[in-house]
Amino acid sequence: MNSSAIVLFSGGQDSTTCLAWALKNYERVETLGFDYGQRHDIELTTRLPLREKIIQCNPDWVDRLGPDHLLDLSLISSISETAMTADIDIVMQKSGLPNTFVPGRNILFMTVAAALAYRRGIDVLIGGMCETDFSGYPDCRDDSMKALQVALNLGMNTRINLATPLMWLDKSETWQLAFDIGGSALIELIRTDTHTCYLGERGRRFDWGYGCGTCPACVLRANGYAKFMERMLD
Ligand code: ZN
Repeated sequence: MNSSAIVLFSGGQDSTTCLAWALKNYERVETLGFDYGQRHDIELTTRLPLREKIIQCNPDWVDRLGPDHLLDLSLISSISETAMTADIDIVMQKSGLPNTFVPGRNILFMTVAAALAYRRGIDVLIGGMCETDFSGYPDCRDDSMKALQVALNLGMNTRINLATPLMWLDKSETWQLAFDIGGSALIELIRTDTHTCYLGERGRRFDWGYGCGTCPACVLRANGYAKFMERMLD
């Protein structure tokens, strides 16, 4: 069993799966969230109840879950106007990236997380970055994370490991990973309590959870769930 880790935990499907993965693999797990002027604060309000509920999926996890940290990164909204932080429509840009892309966001998140880890004496950071389904986001790439790990360790004289357990999974495999770790209780928790929808919609319940059902994040989550269920029923 590994010692301790910090999970970048937003309250979405991916970071909740990462939190379960961390609770399975590390003796002590702390969570970190960022307040950066998201379009909707649903993400921020789901985080703490999710932490309380996820430890009920496995009695071993109760003692492993350490404190939560919430850091203010509102500077992101003052330097970039994107569909994630401002009330504008989600469209594709000329660069081939959707305007939900917040330039440098994951780089900033990991850098701040590494500074926190340094202060807490923790040498593993866990993030839900994924190259498979979300290849449009260059700061989710495996190479981006590996390069950042080198830069951070050189710059702080540390041996911090950036772990990205979802990097090569598609969304259906992310559902599968959650099932393998926490069984149907964890799947139910993710369906009911995690939030993915870009529009912050929670009025409508689908079999894969709450959302608008049409934004890119909802479509990805819905298709992944359908494929996961197909395999389960095979
Ligand atoms: Zn949506």
